[in-house]
Amino acid sequence: MASQDEVQQLKNQVQVEVDRLTPDLVAVSRFLHANPELAYEERQAAELLTDVLEQHGFAVQRGVANLPTAFTGLAGSGAPRIAFLAEYDALPGLGHACGHNLIGTASLGAALAVRSVLDRVAGSVFLVGCPAEEKGGGKIALVEAGIFAGTDAAMLVHPSNRTEMVKLALGMRELTVEFFGKASHAAAAPDQGVNALDAAVLAYVGIGVMRQQVRSDARIHGIITHGGQAPNIIPEYAAARYYVRALDLAYMDDLFGRVVGCCEAAAQATGCRVKLTSVGKDYQPYKPVYSFAEMFQRNLESLGETVDQGPVDRELGSTDVGNVSQTVPTIQPMIQICPREVACHMTAFADAAASDAGHRAMFAATKAMAMTALDLLTEPAALERVAAEFRGRAAR
Ligand SMILES: [Zn+2]
Ligand SMILES: [Zn+2]
Repeated sequence: MASQDEVQQLKNQVQVEVDRLTPDLVAVSRFLHANPELAYEERQAAELLTDVLEQHGFAVQRGVANLPTAFTGLAGSGAPRIAFLAEYDALPGLGHACGHNLIGTASLGAALAVRSVLDRVAGSVFLVGCPAEEKGGGKIALVEAGIFAGTDAAMLVHPSNRTEMVKLALGMRELTVEFFGKASHAAAAPDQGVNALDAAVLAYVGIGVMRQQVRSDARIHGIITHGGQAPNIIPEYAAARYYVRALDLAYMDDLFGRVVGCCEAAAQATGCRVKLTSVGKDYQPYKPVYSFAEMFQRNLESLGETVDQGPVDRELGSTDVGNVSQTVPTIQPMIQICPREVACHMTAFADAAASDAGHRAMFAATKAMAMTALDLLTEPAALERVAAEFRGRAAR
């Protein structure tokens, strides 16, 4: 165990290293920003980030978890192992309007900075290149492939319009429902038909009514994707897609069962056959580890940054970081890079993600991530506190 002075020296050292690397990191960030690539197509981003890792002595594995644009980079050896998560996918038509160029760059920078002191610290640093946050949930495959086995803690920082340490995210499960009826002439022989659209509408209404009796942080929303061919034909086929979201896994299961119930009841009421398909993998809710977030906050504040207080607007989405957070203690603090009125997935957010102010904020976050990794690497009690909180929290 290192003395406080030694830890502070190491923390100073990683700050100096981030400053030294800043021109290179800005170049990486600007390259990603200028060459936006969509989910699972991030070939240039993965190539650039892995090249930089190799230049800095990381052992790189490309195409992990059978995802061509996923990768890992490992430096040091043994436990503890601290991971940084790099994201680098962009949005259709909007480029880096979620600022993942900054996420990839900050996590890269933190990994390089920690590596620069690994001759004096036991353990290892692990950069995980995570494709497709915006669509497809690349981290879900990474978790299932066991990429995080042996990792003690994981971090990434997301750019935002406010600085907050814990932002919850909803779990999400998708459902496709299809109803099969019988076509008939809608005027001449309606009594001979079985109306699949009626079933879809009844299910939609049933789910809408049910929504009044769900917790305020749950979300259920959907669209009818098929509703018939022509007004004079009783629809023999109708289909809809729904997302069911909740802050905890058990409640998500419960709600999903109730949505299925609405669909089955609608089928029964109309005499249709129903087919239910759950497409894709669950996004799991984000499981917070407050002691870990507080550690990051102390480091960030020691750099002169301030954390926003007061009521947090609860605009909750879902992210595949949730799946990582159910597997290993994970933080994803938000760092302000733009004014409040600019939200992510806006064009103005893409501009902020390439701005000097955006880079300045993210490099403060990069330093705080590297310093937090040092807390965990040098202080067994800190790591154990985080692990204990993580274990003590039931699966949400
Ligand atoms: Zn986004
Ligand atoms: Zn994002």
